[in-house]
Amino acid sequence: MLDLGITGVQWYARIPGTIGGAVFNNIHGGTHFISEVVKKVKVLDKDNKIRTLSGKALGLSYDKSRFHDFAEIILSVEFELFRGDAKRAKQVAFEWAKRKSLQPPRSAGCTFKNISNEDKERLDFPTTSAGYIIEHILKMSGYKIGGAKVSTSHHNFVVNDGDATAKDYTTLVKLIQKETKKKLDIDLVPEIIFLGEFWFGNVPGCQGGGVSSTPFEERVVWD
Ligand SMILES: Cc1cc2nc3c(=O)[nH]c(=O)nc-3n(C[C@H](O)[C@H](O)[C@H](O)COP(=O)(O)OP(=O)(O)OC[C@H]3O[C@@H](n4cnc5c(N)ncnc54)[C@H](O)[C@@H]3O)c2cc1C
Repeated sequence: MLDLGITGVQWYARIPGTIGGAVFNNIHGGTHFISEVVKKVKVLDKDNKIRTLSGKALGLSYDKSRFHDFAEIILSVEFELFRGDAKRAKQVAFEWAKRKSLQPPRSAGCTFKNISNEDKERLDFPTTSAGYIIEHILKMSGYKIGGAKVSTSHHNFVVNDGDATAKDYTTLVKLIQKETKKKLDIDLVPEIIFLGEFWFGNVPGCQGGGVSSTPFEERVVWD
């Protein structure tokens, strides 16, 4: 595409996943979101009807879309890309791909969303990065529970250091959240989506696992 001079998705180079997953979670690269270029989406709804939704109807925001709340399957996506500075876009794609290639394998990607600008100002932090908090404030780089370990190179990544179980992973996530709340009065919100009975506890309708229509924060049963 870039060879044809078509730009608009260069910030998402090498983010793992499918187009459906990218729209479901409104993937982002730096300050850019895929929602900027999504024009239409064809979906199969719960009544087995195929419908076309405009980009504006998708409720796309940070890590969020209507697909978190409605049982719809994304069949195809129409993007509105544009002819732009292909040379510059190639550089951007190259830099993002390089950055992605340095991120730890055996992980589910960034564990937590970054904090808000208001919290950054309140705490006088140099960045909104959740990784900054984990490395410099909690000093949990390399911290391990079972086989789940805070990456020593990308501190917002929890990696499988051999034989991590879902419980190891989620216990570590919970500990990071507790420590952050205690030290900074911030609720770190997971960026990853947890699936399975393990997470759903006694929330009605969620016993079988899978994506529920209940917002994530209400679904999680920590203890
Ligand atoms: C190493 C690593 C780096 C990452 N870096 C980034 C990053 O820089 N920026 C970023 O935004 N994300 C990043 N991610 C997160 C991830 O790639 C995206 O969130 C993406 O959603 C995953 O897509 P997938 O196709 O693998 O979806 P899956 O993981 O298979 O599914 C994710 C959700 O999307 C739903 N879904 C998938 N396809 C469809 C469909 N066709 N219709 C309806 N629902 C569907 C699934 O039901 C599920 O709930 C990273 C992940 C990893 C592991």
